[in-house]
Amino acid sequence: MNNKLYGNLIFELSKPGRKGYSLPQNPYQHTTAELPATCCRKQEAQLPECDEMTVVRHYTNLSHNNFGVNDGFYPLGSCTMKYNPVINEEIAAMKTFAGLHPLQPAETCQHALELYFRLQESLAELTGLSEFTLNPCAGAHGELTGLMVIRAYHESRGDRQRTKVLIPDSAHGTNPASAAVCGLEILEVKSDAHGQVDLEDLKRIVSEEGPAIAAMMMTNPNTLGLFETHIPEITQLVHEAGGLMYYDGANLNPMLGACRPGDMGFDVMHINLHKTFSTPHGGGGPGSGPVGVRAGLEPFLPTPRVVFRNDMFQVETGDYEQTLGSIGAFFGNFAVMIKAYVYILSLGREHVKMVGPLAALNANYIKESLKDVYELPIEGLCKHEFVFDGLKDKSTGVTTMDVAKRLLDYGYHAPTIYFPLLFHESLMIEPTENESKDTIDGFIQVMRQIAEEAKTDPELVKSAPHTTPIGRVDDVLAVKHPVVTFRQLKNEQ
Ligand SMILES: *Cc1c(COP(=O)(O)O)cnc(C)c1O
Repeated sequence: MNNKLYGNLIFELSKPGRKGYSLPQNPYQHTTAELPATCCRKQEAQLPECDEMTVVRHYTNLSHNNFGVNDGFYPLGSCTMKYNPVINEEIAAMKTFAGLHPLQPAETCQHALELYFRLQESLAELTGLSEFTLNPCAGAHGELTGLMVIRAYHESRGDRQRTKVLIPDSAHGTNPASAAVCGLEILEVKSDAHGQVDLEDLKRIVSEEGPAIAAMMMTNPNTLGLFETHIPEITQLVHEAGGLMYYDGANLNPMLGACRPGDMGFDVMHINLHKTFSTPHGGGGPGSGPVGVRAGLEPFLPTPRVVFRNDMFQVETGDYEQTLGSIGAFFGNFAVMIKAYVYILSLGREHVKMVGPLAALNANYIKESLKDVYELPIEGLCKHEFVFDGLKDKSTGVTTMDVAKRLLDYGYHAPTIYFPLLFHESLMIEPTENESKDTIDGFIQVMRQIAEEAKTDPELVKSAPHTTPIGRVDDVLAVKHPVVTFRQLKNEQ
């Protein structure tokens, strides 16, 4: 057995009879409240038995193997790994918020309902839409909710045949997934040579499928970090065909304070609070994907709703005939909302306008500083993120995967790789607005150094990482043959 603590699973450190606790004798031992047999397990749970220090050291060492924005630069394109200011956590952890119960009477939690209500209002103002629900618990959950609103709208008009959704080929994978979960069919729209929606392809599809179109989903700036310049023509085409426009605002960063989806003709959108307005995320949560709608679509929004009526903030579930009803437990992830609201208030009306321009400045600075050594497939000004198509010099055999792995050796999180699927060697970089020029210059220098190493010592890059606790993993094997339980690991040894 490996005696380095973090080399083991907690189960491998287990010794029969070891304990990390001592409890007083149970004074209620004589009472025999028996659980029904159906609620009892058939055999003892196979739990690890360890002393307290072993447990503490094991998990502390494991936590040191983690990497987050607080450890270093994390330029993960499309995911917006934004720094989460300490004040967000302090306020979210205040007992007056953290100690709340979702079923307590409205009179006893006016402060929380007010925050909820004001966040709804702030999002409506920032996006130019009429009303928001904060219930969805992730971006994808928001997409599903938004599409359900769109479907309910069409059905309310007797338009049941509208079952198809237009989605650009550069879209985030959750877009087609959400449409499919909503029972809708996907019509893919091609990108043109500039990486934008191909208007001719869109016109063709709209003329063929017009009466079946429920909606078009768009991300703007799109997943290549490019601002779609044909929005007025696109919204007009889709609206004339009777479809609604859905805006994927997972990363609203570049738009904040600059322009608003509502003003551009979008009818429904979601925002990822856990990207646009800080909150640490990754590995599946916690998230929040509020959905906003233009005037006229409010009746379909889910419940519960938080409103201001009769001089107080109230939670309403009844009286909405056309509502989708509940789409999850209670109100969504409230702690994420607190952090988002604190982030918005910390910036204020004036500084919120700086978020977009600074995110774009940082991204463009990196792009221009590296495009002589990395392949830039689409020239021009980007917004908050951009995509390289691997190293410029393809003769070395060093791939995007190798560059990403080598970055780990220098203490950086890798950018998003092999996404979007439009290029073979996609390397997608998003610095966010928070990073200093020094940090960004350090990253640029390392990226140039890796390009140099690819020429002088390609094997060094191809066998990276060399400094991490675990070296290069076999991705294909991991996908084809995942070993995810201790029992499975033991059976296979
Ligand atoms: C992250 C992201 C999503 C999905 O958000 P989740 O919270 O991960 O479900 C959707 N669209 C875009 C453009 C995104 O970047």
